[in-house]
Amino acid sequence: MAKKPTFDYDLIVIGSGAGGSAAATIAARDGKRVAIIEADTFGGDSPNWSDVPTKALLHVAQLYDEARHGARFGLRSSTLGYNYPSLRTWKDLAVKRTGAGGNRRYYENEGIATFTGAAHFLTPNEITVNRRHLTGAHFLVATGSHWVAPNIQGLSDVSYLTPRTILEAMRPPKSLYIIGAGTIGVEIAQLMAIFGTKVYLAEIASRILPQEDEEVGALLERTLKEQKGITSLTQTRTLMVVKDGVGKRVTFSRGGIEKSVHVDDILIATGRIPTVDLGLENASVAYTPKGIEVNAHLQTTARHIFAAGDVLGHSSHTHTALLESRVAAHNLLHPKSKISPDYTASPRLTFTFPGVASVGLSEDDCAKRDLAVQKAIAPLNIIARSNTSDFRDGFVKIITDKKGVLLGATVVAPGASEIVHDLALAIKYQLTARQLAETPHAFLSWSEAVRVAAAKLG
Ligand SMILES: Cc1cc2nc3c(=O)[nH]c(=O)nc-3n(C[C@H](O)[C@H](O)[C@H](O)COP(=O)(O)OP(=O)(O)OC[C@H]3O[C@@H](n4cnc5c(N)ncnc54)[C@H](O)[C@@H]3O)c2cc1C
Repeated sequence: MAKKPTFDYDLIVIGSGAGGSAAATIAARDGKRVAIIEADTFGGDSPNWSDVPTKALLHVAQLYDEARHGARFGLRSSTLGYNYPSLRTWKDLAVKRTGAGGNRRYYENEGIATFTGAAHFLTPNEITVNRRHLTGAHFLVATGSHWVAPNIQGLSDVSYLTPRTILEAMRPPKSLYIIGAGTIGVEIAQLMAIFGTKVYLAEIASRILPQEDEEVGALLERTLKEQKGITSLTQTRTLMVVKDGVGKRVTFSRGGIEKSVHVDDILIATGRIPTVDLGLENASVAYTPKGIEVNAHLQTTARHIFAAGDVLGHSSHTHTALLESRVAAHNLLHPKSKISPDYTASPRLTFTFPGVASVGLSEDDCAKRDLAVQKAIAPLNIIARSNTSDFRDGFVKIITDKKGVLLGATVVAPGASEIVHDLALAIKYQLTARQLAETPHAFLSWSEAVRVAAAKLG
């Protein structure tokens, strides 16, 4: 009888971010021999470079901004100020307190072997990392994504910032040209504008936050302009960048007219692409520059190799990466009862003020699928909380099918990232607008707008 091959590990996880960490921990707790490999900082992007640091700084920015505009409530704020290096210290503390940032020991305490370096497949069951060879019965590729600079004349000859490097700056630039007005570009635009930066937000699409429905971009563009002095340059193609004294001169084309602007710095927030340069072809794993191909169980074309997180190229959220990581762990531990990730109720968030959160199908999605739908919008200014907080710029929008079953929803409001979970639950369990409207929503909560929008359809 042929002997079963033996491997160094039952599971080798490549990448220690959200996509890798959950599966590594689940498999180790199940008694499997697990190794995790990290090329950069243990914990990956979310705790170290993205979600946690941006939200820690946005929290302070929004606190400062609210206090600064508190005179109408009777607050005296003329002496309010900030010390930017101290804000950075706060951000670093928030990162440290997650316990995940840079924490190799966490994995070791779970009995997981850790290796630093870039993993590279040699064969379907063998990788190298720092000249060591490791073999595994199963693999999980969770290498995430990275920023790519757009093809703009002169960009490679000047220095520019990314969302990672701007968070490490000792002070905000006096002026900043942001290329890309998706979630991250818009969050950083607001953050920097509150701390005094003159921001130009350039976006090739016809609205900012182009992945959201039309009313969202229009409303946010107006509030960013009126409240934060941000110049939104939609339908704008950035053409050229040159050094200009200590700053840069950016030339762009908008509505067929070429213009240029002098700025201290440029931030690239145009998009991230999956990190797939790890010898996947040697392991017979099919991929394109848009991500690794997987089946419904997150198995790649080499069935013992799974993939999860941003490397799949279809979402860029930590909760989605965690969901996929758990599903991959389940499937490799229980091959006879495989499951698939359910994305129907995964919210999409932008942590601006007001925040933006959407879940399920957008109106554009429904139009593309030719679905017969009904929709209702409740503007924030019709609910009582809008009066007591003196804030009006937002809405809740609900989309249902013809029978009233919720298909999608969008919230633009303070605390949108909390309000949306009510709607996510309704979408996941196919509740109707009427059922949502019949559920009490507390008086003077922003969530009353959910009930009002639902009642229009129920
Ligand atoms: C500025 C910013 C703010 C964000 N805010 C939010 C938010 O508030 N909420 C939210 O849900 N999402 C947010 N996101 C998205 C979220 O951070 C990502 O979706 C999430 O981190 C993806 O996790 P991941 O495990 O797939 O990738 P990562 O966390 O990037 O982990 C991949 C890891 O693999 C390592 N790696 C790569 N190649 C190799 C190799 N060959 N060998 C070994 N290791 C390798 C990398 O070094 C990296 O550490 C934000 C993103 C950014 C950029």
